[in-house]
Amino acid sequence: MNKETAAALYRRLYRLFDGVTPLKTDCGVLCGAACCKGDGKTGMRLFPGEETSLPAAETPDGRFALCCGACEREARPLACRIFPFFPIPDKNGRIAVQADPRAVNLCPLARQAQAVAFDRRFLRRVKKAGVLLAKEPECLAFLRETAAEFEEIYAMRRLLTAGEETGEEET
Ligand code: SF4
Ligand code: SF4
Repeated sequence: MNKETAAALYRRLYRLFDGVTPLKTDCGVLCGAACCKGDGKTGMRLFPGEETSLPAAETPDGRFALCCGACEREARPLACRIFPFFPIPDKNGRIAVQADPRAVNLCPLARQAQAVAFDRRFLRRVKKAGVLLAKEPECLAFLRETAAEFEEIYAMRRLLTAGEETGEEET
């Protein structure tokens, strides 16, 4: 994907989330905006080619966007816009929207995803973002890598749960 294609793609993706967030109200009041507490050394993973759409100072290695705990909202990375969800492709490339299992320690919405009344527009926009990303081979590969990462996390959880159910108490 060349720079122009990437810039146009991320402009379009970013616009999907103008004024559209997981809840119709500000979910940051639930957790003290727990996902926006960057210390300038940590941050969010970028999607392929996304570094073309963010300031170079915030994307020093082109793979992560550094977060210092505040940003211009209209210039935030895609990972922040779709958090705590992710578009996951099935083997035919169809996109499903899943709560991000990497977010559960941080985000109450991800922990209670089955019980929360999310803004349906937001979920549709995450799906739309996935459909647009899946049209670019590098981005589709990135979605598939993330899907594999999710599967590893689910498998680990299943193992831990099975261990808890069958584990003997120490004497
Ligand atoms: S951690 Fe979750 S609930 Fe809290 S602000 Fe971020 S997305 Fe909203
Ligand atoms: S870049 Fe902005 S939206 Fe993203 S985590 Fe940091 S403060 Fe929050």
